[in-house]
Amino acid sequence: MEKAAAGIADVTAVIVGAGMSGLLAGARLKRGGLDSFVILEKSDGVGGTWYDNRYPGAACDVPSHLYSYSFRTKSDWSRMFAEQPEILDYFRDVAKAEGLRPHLRLNTEAMSADFDERMGQWHVRAKDGRRWRARFLIIGTGQLNKPHIPNIPGYGDFAGHQFHSARWKDGVRFAGKHVIVVGTGASAAQLVPRVAEEAANLVVVQRSPNWMIPRPDAEFPSALKTAFKLFPPLRQLLRGYIYLRNELNWQAFTGDNRFMSRYLKRQALKQLEEQVDDPELRKTLTPDYPIGCKRILICSDYYPALLRGNVQLETSPIERVTATGMKMAGGTRHKADIIIWATGFDTGSFVAPLQISGREGRHLADMWKNGAEAHKGTVVSGFPNLFVLYGPNTNLGHNSIIFMAERQMDYVMKIIETVLQRDLRFADVTNDAQRASNERLQRKLASTVWAGSCESWYKHDGKIVNNWSSSTLDFMRHARTLDLENFELGLRSARAEEEPAAA
Ligand code: NAP
Repeated sequence: MEKAAAGIADVTAVIVGAGMSGLLAGARLKRGGLDSFVILEKSDGVGGTWYDNRYPGAACDVPSHLYSYSFRTKSDWSRMFAEQPEILDYFRDVAKAEGLRPHLRLNTEAMSADFDERMGQWHVRAKDGRRWRARFLIIGTGQLNKPHIPNIPGYGDFAGHQFHSARWKDGVRFAGKHVIVVGTGASAAQLVPRVAEEAANLVVVQRSPNWMIPRPDAEFPSALKTAFKLFPPLRQLLRGYIYLRNELNWQAFTGDNRFMSRYLKRQALKQLEEQVDDPELRKTLTPDYPIGCKRILICSDYYPALLRGNVQLETSPIERVTATGMKMAGGTRHKADIIIWATGFDTGSFVAPLQISGREGRHLADMWKNGAEAHKGTVVSGFPNLFVLYGPNTNLGHNSIIFMAERQMDYVMKIIETVLQRDLRFADVTNDAQRASNERLQRKLASTVWAGSCESWYKHDGKIVNNWSSSTLDFMRHARTLDLENFELGLRSARAEEEPAAA
């Protein structure tokens, strides 16, 4: 698979990350007849976000029959919204079934990638010094992999246990403990009900409330799982239904006060009214920004958890962390044995800490310092033969991100096949094409609900860099065409021919 020369292994492609995107890339390369690739993964297992986020209650808010690869659907999902252990098992099974295990290099953190324009090769270095030379570099590190803990005075003074929701301390027990959870986003909404069941006392620190709609979850009876197994079109039908139903929700994001936003808002307010009697608390839990501006949470057990006798909602800002807990602005003190920072992720830098340098030594981090951008969310001008899956402006608020990543891979495979079939050194999207497509994208995004009054991880210095601007069907249309006219194609020079070619 790898041809080693002078400590450097030659492969056709290096994939960084063995999460949802990296495994997808490997499977598609392999299914496309390309076997010479490695998947570098910093953790000691596959699964990416589903490997990292192992807090109690972690689950996917996209139904599992849709949150799975189109080429590897699964008949025996235990429930509509599977929890993290089952999703992680799914990705492990995919790695095995798609023959990806021999390609995996676990505990291998890619640190730098430099493009050699003359040879049309990426030189990739891992933290431990290993090196690869590849014609293609596929980044599958995701948008939500760098935990963010706010810079709060006294953080280091805390004498108990504290950790981020995505760096869960396995074996931590809450029974008899005083716990503080900071944050009320998707992660907190899932873990708070579970922690509340165990802890002696739980304080939830809310900076702003979220719109929350019910989760229509249920176990699949075994007869239905058998039917899904015996009649695959049945599970395809369910998958198709969930996809189209979710796709309808896109309309809610196209601006405030659309039919679908009014519908979703009614659902959210109804759940709040049904679950919370106290009008003051209802007010505290009602967002003052348009629905969809931050991610809509799909959750039915968060409000009931807040009503428990051992749970308290705190809305004052944190003044400082102390040795024994937290002091809030206004003077209230909360005692804590454990602090859980469910405070989200750094979502603007995408590929960091991997240092990528492209043509003429340009650094990707410099190019993206005013907000990451790519053409079709996937290719970046000046960085030939580089593909960023779940890249800039490919996140969604309404449907499965796996659908988006698969469409990106459709596009990537067309470029790779073109480069290989024509024996090109590289394909590099032009700056003009990238600028024009991003101007169109940002014009569309300006009229979406995300451009509204709320703060969210979708925006960096006011620019929406994470989210796609339209429906997923529109992205599919967008990614389906290989727009070679927008690429500079690097022909193989006579000089390069003299050098040993990459495997
Ligand atoms: P998040 O949505 O960014 O939420 C972070 C929370 O921390 C927010 O409530 C934020 O308050 C709060 N916060 C940050 N700094 C704070 C401070 N200094 N003081 C008090 N509160 C502070 O992060 P997340 O919950 O980890 O979710 C991130 C994304 O991961 C989600 O949007 C979703 O895309 C994905 N996710 C998905 C699932 C799923 O079911 N598929 C589950 C979990 C996560 P503000 O709102 O005021 O900023």
